[in-house]
Amino acid sequence: MCEINSHGGNVVVKKILELCLKNGATLAEPGEFTKRAFLNGRIDLLQAESVIDVINAKSEKEAKTGIKQLEGFLSQKINEIKKEIMDVMVNIEVTIDYPEYDTPDVTKKELSDMLDSVEEKLEKLEKSFDNGKIIKEGIKTVIIGRPNAGKSSLLNAILKEDRAIVTQYEGTTRDTIEEFVTVNGIPLKLIDTAGIRDAKDEVEKIGIEKSKELVKEADLIIAIFDSSEDLTKEDLEILDLIKNKKTIIILNKSDLKQKIDEKNEKLTKVSSDIIKISALNKTGIEKIYDKITELFNLNEINLDQDIVITNLRHKNLISKAIESVKKAKETMEQDMPLDIIAIFIKDILEDLGNITGEIVTEDIINEIFSKFCLGK
Ligand code: GDP
Repeated sequence: MCEINSHGGNVVVKKILELCLKNGATLAEPGEFTKRAFLNGRIDLLQAESVIDVINAKSEKEAKTGIKQLEGFLSQKINEIKKEIMDVMVNIEVTIDYPEYDTPDVTKKELSDMLDSVEEKLEKLEKSFDNGKIIKEGIKTVIIGRPNAGKSSLLNAILKEDRAIVTQYEGTTRDTIEEFVTVNGIPLKLIDTAGIRDAKDEVEKIGIEKSKELVKEADLIIAIFDSSEDLTKEDLEILDLIKNKKTIIILNKSDLKQKIDEKNEKLTKVSSDIIKISALNKTGIEKIYDKITELFNLNEINLDQDIVITNLRHKNLISKAIESVKKAKETMEQDMPLDIIAIFIKDILEDLGNITGEIVTEDIINEIFSKFCLGK
C-alpha cells in the first residue's frame, strides 16, 4: 500500500495518475473497496450489500436496519440456522457413507425436529420482509379526492411537519412523481403529489382511468371528502374505486358547518377508519399518523431486537430455502431413503450459502457491486 501526496492542480495530479496507470496500476471500479473486503473474507456478501443500503438510506429506520446488517446480525442469524442443519447433516452423511460403522443413526424425530425449527426461523425472517419493504420503500400512499376536497391543503400540512424529510424522484409508473416522506417516524411514499401541488389543472385532468391505476398500485389510500357538503356523484365514484383497498377516510373542513359525519353509511361501507380534520387549521392531522401506525403495525417493528429483511434477493432465497425444507419434510413423510432427504437438506444449505455469499456466482457478485458508486 502506498499513499501519494502531491501539489494540488489538475495537471500534476493527472500526470501522477497517468504514470501510475502506465506502470501497472488499475483504477478502482464502483464498489471496489467493499468488493475487495468481501473477496478477502473480511466481510460477507450480506454486509457488503448493506453498505449500499446505508449510503442510500432515506430514513433513520432504514439506515438503522442497514447498519445492523453491516454489523453482521443477519449473517449471524443465517449462520446459526446453517449450523443447526449441519449438526444433523454430518450424522446423516456418516450414516450414508459408512453404513458399516457403528454411528448413532439419525432418528426421524431428530431430523423432523430440526426441519420444523429451521422452517419456523426462516418463515419469521421471510415475514419480516413485509416490514423491511415498508422501511426501505415506504408505504405507497395515494391521496385521492374530488377537486376542492382539500388534497393540497392536507399534503402541505403533512409536508410542513418539522420532521418531514422529503426526497422527490420519478415514479415507477409513467408520468408519476413519487415523494418519500418520513413523518413522525412513518415512511410514506406519496404518489403523484407533484400533480396536486404544482399544477392544479393537472389533477383535475388526471381523471378516473389514471386514478384507477394509482389506486391499484397503492398500499394505502387516503380518501379526502369535504364534510361541509353532501357527498357528490364524484365522491361516490371515488368510494367505489377504493372499496377493496386499505383506506383511511378523511372528513375535511371540520371547522365549517357539517353536512356529513363518521356515521354516513356510504363511507362506513368502504372503511371504518374515518377521521375528522381541518387541513386549514391543521387539526386532527396527528390522528392520521396514529391510524397509519396502527394499520401497518409500525409499533411492532422493533429495530433494536428484530432482524428485518429489506433486500428482495435475500427474501427470494429465504423463500426458496423454505420450499426446500417443505420438500425435505414431504420426502420424510413418504418414507424415502435418507440420501434422498439429504439432497433437499443440501439445497437448504445452498440457498442460505447464497445469501451470505459463500457459494455465490461471479455474475451475482458483479451485479451487486455494479450498484455501488466510485470510492466506496
Ligand atoms: P384540492 O383541490 O383537493 O387540492 O383542495 P385544496 O387543498 O386546494 O382546497 C380547496 C379549498 O378548500 C381551498 O380554498 C382551501 O383553502 C379550502 N380548504 C382546504 N381545507 C380546508 C379546511 O379544513 N377548512 C376550510 N374552511 N377550508 C379548507
